[in-house]
Amino acid sequence: MNKTLISTLILVITLCVNANAQGLLQEKNKFTHQDTLRGSITPEREWWDLTYYHLDIKVNPETKTIAGKNTIQYTVLKPNQVLQIDLQEPLVLTKVTQNDKALEIKHDGNAHFVTLKDQQNIGETNNVIAYYEGKPREAIRAPWDGGISWKKDNNGNDFIASSCQGLGASVWWPNKDHMYDEVDSMDISVTVPKGLMNVSNGRLKSVIDNKDETITTNWHVANPINNYGVNINIGNYANFSEVYKGEKGDLDMNYFVLKENLEKAKEHFKDAPKMMKAFEHWFGPYPFYEDSFKLVEVPYLGMEHQSSVTYGNKYMNGYLGDDLSGTGWGLKFDFIIIHESGHEWFANNITNIDIADMWIHESFTSYSENLFLDYYYGKEAAAEYVIGKRKNVRNDRPLIGQYNVNNEGSGDMYYKGENMLHTLRQLVNDDEKWRQILRTLNSKFYHQTVTTQQIEDYLAEASGLDLKGFFNQYLRSIKIPVLEYKVEGKKLNYKWTNTVDGFVMPIQIEINGQSQWILPTSKNQTLKLKSKNSKVVVDRDFYITVKEF
Ligand SMILES: [Zn+2]
Repeated sequence: MNKTLISTLILVITLCVNANAQGLLQEKNKFTHQDTLRGSITPEREWWDLTYYHLDIKVNPETKTIAGKNTIQYTVLKPNQVLQIDLQEPLVLTKVTQNDKALEIKHDGNAHFVTLKDQQNIGETNNVIAYYEGKPREAIRAPWDGGISWKKDNNGNDFIASSCQGLGASVWWPNKDHMYDEVDSMDISVTVPKGLMNVSNGRLKSVIDNKDETITTNWHVANPINNYGVNINIGNYANFSEVYKGEKGDLDMNYFVLKENLEKAKEHFKDAPKMMKAFEHWFGPYPFYEDSFKLVEVPYLGMEHQSSVTYGNKYMNGYLGDDLSGTGWGLKFDFIIIHESGHEWFANNITNIDIADMWIHESFTSYSENLFLDYYYGKEAAAEYVIGKRKNVRNDRPLIGQYNVNNEGSGDMYYKGENMLHTLRQLVNDDEKWRQILRTLNSKFYHQTVTTQQIEDYLAEASGLDLKGFFNQYLRSIKIPVLEYKVEGKKLNYKWTNTVDGFVMPIQIEINGQSQWILPTSKNQTLKLKSKNSKVVVDRDFYITVKEF
């Protein structure tokens, strides 16, 4: 879906210029021509709006190859005769047709420019069929590097899965590989050897026996979906399901696991309906009722594939048995079930236009883990968990990456980002209001692709707070604000240091056990105390550094 492209571009450009003018972004790295083709809204992408894909492929585990086609349907927004399709080497785009006529293709690395013969008229809906084949890049460290994982289960059956976050879906199928334009709906047909089955996104419409020792599974996705959310998972799966009574009515929750893990999964996946209950409370209805919710076992850790969240946490609590917070609270739930499902709201419902803004996906989703704890174990437990994760912050680069070159910001988008949001919750200082802000965020930007600026503007407006300096500080700089203070007799002196221009943030402190707000600035301020030797404690829910001077 093309969302007011021009105003979006202007926002992105303004944001870039502002941030750079303030010297807050990292120095420009060297990016290649290929990075620009992949990461920008090129003229050959801009003129058409994706409406529908039918990906129809055959997967051959023996040769580790894929062959097939993708029907790409689109609406013409403005005149142009050249269309960009992305497909990464070593896969080969063999042919592109429109109305049964083969078209000329100019290959430029992983971008392919197709010249259309038929006149493209504004408002018309047309399609091209992109044929491809080959041996896709193999994922060695999935999901971190991406590609196809060709593995075996303990019984020697093929166990195959795709993962492609960041790298892009064009690593395994031809598409318009940019986040800004989500397809409105999609069919996924995958042919595999008999004895295996493929689980993709959406709902299973049919299984066809091809009489040549293969079967085809046809899946339909009824909602807009981002490319990297599309996936294939092929294995000797067992299946069980339940109906969850949710905010929008009955939600089908289906679980696909290796046969050997069926009994374990029936017990362990009880975290899934628990997750659904907590997240619908905090974020509003699950955004894809029409497509159901699935957890699908895969031979790697896991990924937020839309309506088919993939799972490989080995049926352990925590992150492969570890607690990322070091507080013990992280062992109360299966990290992958909770975190990857949190992405259904932040990544799949609300999607970044440019992956430079990926903090929108990861900061909110990491933050969702503590809201899960909040729902079941209370506010204190949740706070301990999110505060505990601060030790993992590296402060190497800002959370926002470089725009238009397919570049992500720092990995701090997880731990620093969630602590930024935890701090914002303190500033809002009204838990019910905060919950409504998060729910409205999901309804306002329902099934949309967005910029950081849109999220910032909404949060400022909904909270009634001036957050410009706050977001510049936490998103665009690596500086953590320092509260310097000193108790002298009956006086408390305090100020902010290590802050960016325009940083304004009140903070809660306790003086002799009595809570109160102060509004430090970069200039020294003095508060009169009732007694000498008062004990001052700064609320640790705020993600800052505290220093006595
Ligand atoms: Zn994530």
